[in-house]
Amino acid sequence: MTVWKRTPALRLRPRVLGAALASLIISSALAAVEKTDAARYREHVKVLAANRMEGRGAGTRGLDRAGHYLEQEFKRLGLQAAGEDGTYAQSFLVTTGARLRGGNSLVVTLNGAEHKLRLRDDYIPLSFSSVGSVSGPVVFAGYGASAEAFGYDDYTHFDVKDKIVIVLRREPPAFQEKSGRQGPTPHSHLITKAINARNRGARAVILVNGNLGKGEQDLLLRFEKLAGPEDVGIPIVQVKNAVAESWFQAGGASLSQLQREIDEKSEPRSRALPESLRLSLQVNIEKLRSKVHNVLAYLPGKSDEYVVLGAHYDHLGRGGVNSLAPSQTGQIHHGADDNASGTAGLLELARVFSEERAKPERGILFAAFAGEELGLLGSAHWVSHPTLPLNKAVAMLNMDMIGRIQGGKIYVGGVGTGSNLRSLVEGAVTRHELTVDYSASGYAASDHTSFVTQRIPVLFFFSGLHSDYHKPSDTWEKIDSAAAANLLDLVAEITEQLSAGERPQFVKVEAETRGPASPSGGGGYGPYFGSIPDFGQVENGVRFADVRPGSPASKAGLRAGDVLIQFGETPVKNLYDFTYALRRSKVGDVVEVKVLRGGQTVSASVTLEQRR
Ligand SMILES: [Zn+2]
Repeated sequence: MTVWKRTPALRLRPRVLGAALASLIISSALAAVEKTDAARYREHVKVLAANRMEGRGAGTRGLDRAGHYLEQEFKRLGLQAAGEDGTYAQSFLVTTGARLRGGNSLVVTLNGAEHKLRLRDDYIPLSFSSVGSVSGPVVFAGYGASAEAFGYDDYTHFDVKDKIVIVLRREPPAFQEKSGRQGPTPHSHLITKAINARNRGARAVILVNGNLGKGEQDLLLRFEKLAGPEDVGIPIVQVKNAVAESWFQAGGASLSQLQREIDEKSEPRSRALPESLRLSLQVNIEKLRSKVHNVLAYLPGKSDEYVVLGAHYDHLGRGGVNSLAPSQTGQIHHGADDNASGTAGLLELARVFSEERAKPERGILFAAFAGEELGLLGSAHWVSHPTLPLNKAVAMLNMDMIGRIQGGKIYVGGVGTGSNLRSLVEGAVTRHELTVDYSASGYAASDHTSFVTQRIPVLFFFSGLHSDYHKPSDTWEKIDSAAAANLLDLVAEITEQLSAGERPQFVKVEAETRGPASPSGGGGYGPYFGSIPDFGQVENGVRFADVRPGSPASKAGLRAGDVLIQFGETPVKNLYDFTYALRRSKVGDVVEVKVLRGGQTVSASVTLEQRR
């Protein structure tokens, strides 16, 4: 599963018991049921989560080894190759990072004098910048925002075609008030600003921090830390405030003063900078790419329609930006639950169905996706380059993290996306001693989302988040294979019914209300605290899965395992409380916090710092 950018969108509703009716429709559908072998399942998990697989990170030999293992298993079962060119593999390129190459430069010509800025000291390209050279005159476009809903547009009556546009970070303070949100609006996202400038014909974007809060420094963003699209379609660099201010002052203006005027009146102050100012910008970035593979096998049915069973087999490798144990970067993140558990389930279901003597009515596609942790890339690639006709796919069933079922409780998402899915699942569940929390929507941080966007009904099987999520400690011996086998029997039964029965009609379900969104490309909002919340705990405080070394939280003596219950004046019941309280704070604030540690309440003073 990709990192939860928000609290899981599972609106928990009590299970509805339809036992009496459901038991009447057992019929022939039980043929493959209760054949899942927990011991075999466990072996697959063990293999996939072994050190040899190196955490199955994109671009590692470990991921290729895992893919090869899946292919061998599918072959052994006699399943048809369903990848490209008669193979089991479908390859695609993923971007695993970016690196600054030689040849970045920013040369300022002012009143005939040329001045070369220093990379990383005066300016820095952003990782999603286009590569290339541009030069031209410079204009100021405020926050670079076109916010019709708030009656504000920095580009009204202001032509920036073929100009280099300076924009401020963040947004006018009034946006947040007007939006009624407790946090910045999308107009503050760097990518929104870049695309807005690009669409208006600008040649490049220069970003500046602008006026700083108390205790805040004028820092350049860290190139390596930024996430975003591969290439936003326009060169974009950040310069230090002092650099930009000198350009404004050459024209008798003040950037700082202009920003104050915008903020006070919520009116744009866009303007051209002196004619004698010219910038010459060259951005040279290398995208680090790797070839990865989806592994695909097919069991033909009597008709050309088919059911997709899917699970992603990639994980985080040795950590990286999505690790929730940043202090353990470099260690293998085994990903036994995420998602060796689902992948092993896919293999076990492939065995169960391939050993059936009777041909299924509809076929079954077994799809092991790569690139999921980088943003559902493998499934997105498959639906845009399907190796079987997409309109013949009757439903997609996704297994992502199914190995840690506790007390027989599972989550099934997507039950609203197909006309008969909910009743189908409810009917089957009664025979498997499982309790289900249902979610109607088919949008979540895993691969079935790629299918629901193609109007294919989906079901998502999930056993819940836990403290080992996205950490090296997600290891094979913590997997409950007997419980997972029970769930697989349920998935098998549902698959059989979808293979034989009425084709579900797609139903559009709006995504459930989301929690605090994580903006892309901004390096985070609000001051820096330094704790990593434990996604396994969602109530009565925020447990720290980890604390970043050298962070404000760490300096204040807070540790992994502490449960935050008070942040300044705010009692903290959950992650929302904490997120909002942190956003309302400022860099430099000293916040009294209370945590629970081993039954004791411990107080600490945390001095909030600037994110860098
Ligand atoms: Zn994950």
